[in-house]
Amino acid sequence: MKAIAVKPGIKNSVHLVEMPKPSVSEITNGRGVLVKVLQVGVDGTDKEIKNAEYGASPEGSDFLVIGHEGFGIVEEVGDNVTELKKGDYVVATVRRPGSSIYDEIGTSDMTTDDIYFERGINLHGYLSEYYVDDAEFIVKIPKGLKEVGVLLEPTTVVEKGITQAFEIQRRMRVWKPKTAAVLGAGTIGLLATLVLRLQGIEVVTFGLQPKPYLNSDLIEEIGAKYESTKELQFIESINKYGAYDIIFEATGYSPIVFEAMQALAKNGVLVLSSVTGGDKTTEVPADKINLEFVLGNKVMVGTVNANREYFEKGVKDLSQAELEYPGWLGKLLTHPVNGLENYEELFDKMENGKDVVKVYCEVNE
Ligand code: BGC
Ligand code: ZN
Repeated sequence: MKAIAVKPGIKNSVHLVEMPKPSVSEITNGRGVLVKVLQVGVDGTDKEIKNAEYGASPEGSDFLVIGHEGFGIVEEVGDNVTELKKGDYVVATVRRPGSSIYDEIGTSDMTTDDIYFERGINLHGYLSEYYVDDAEFIVKIPKGLKEVGVLLEPTTVVEKGITQAFEIQRRMRVWKPKTAAVLGAGTIGLLATLVLRLQGIEVVTFGLQPKPYLNSDLIEEIGAKYESTKELQFIESINKYGAYDIIFEATGYSPIVFEAMQALAKNGVLVLSSVTGGDKTTEVPADKINLEFVLGNKVMVGTVNANREYFEKGVKDLSQAELEYPGWLGKLLTHPVNGLENYEELFDKMENGKDVVKVYCEVNE
């Protein structure tokens, strides 16, 4: 079978590889699930891997099959798999358990191991015709979501961040957030806006580009407000909207974190999700930020990856979204690329496409 791979550490080494089709027997205890891949989304992480800034080959291989946002259909299951069957639509989680206590209880996204393993990042990923994995890591997608199932993995990153925020805020006993700001209007920013809107929270989402454009239209369509930081500096926005109960940061621009700390309401929570690999520095009013954080009992939390729980939550929110805002999710799927052999087009669309929200590969019919 064909797969899209890179030579980790070598820039622009994306190429097609030929590999043996995997089999359910590769997984012990009869718990294997063979999945025929239908669609795989690509994101900034894949761009970093292509640029040799991230990613590694799995042990025993000199290449890495990329792709961590998979969507597929079950082709075969092992003898001890009862929860899935041939023909089910599925999405697989990304991280695989290591050895910390968090890994042992099914929360590998919270691992304290220094080295951890993720499919498409340092284990072979999903940009291939088939993959096989343990049923434990495979989540069923309702048939009614088959056109948008490829959006589940990016949604789970948001689900984890927001669930963690609420979990932390149980400390307040009566915390009922009314307002939220989402920083960043890319795929994660759009999905964060959606998940917060589904909970009835008033949301203002910030992007660079002045409106109107596709993303600002999408944001307004679900009853949120859009602001361009070129026209309204984020920190200034509290004069218009008031301080925010929740802020979800997904811009990839770390200096804005310190503005967000100052735009947080009393007892508020700031969720950070940008993976910023650079070495940017910035000057901040440290006393003021610290004082307000202390006197306002505020919280800031980092979040990455997602375990099965958040995939299951994501399925529920995507389902609710289809009922509440029919057709909205489908509009995020802006740039399909047909077939694994067109891997150059995948990256080209991500880098140079117009009105890009999600670029994805149609792997199999
Ligand atoms: C993925 C996460 C992953 C992170 C770091 C993100 O793009 O969506 O699942 O943990 O990259 O590798
Ligand atoms: Zn990702």
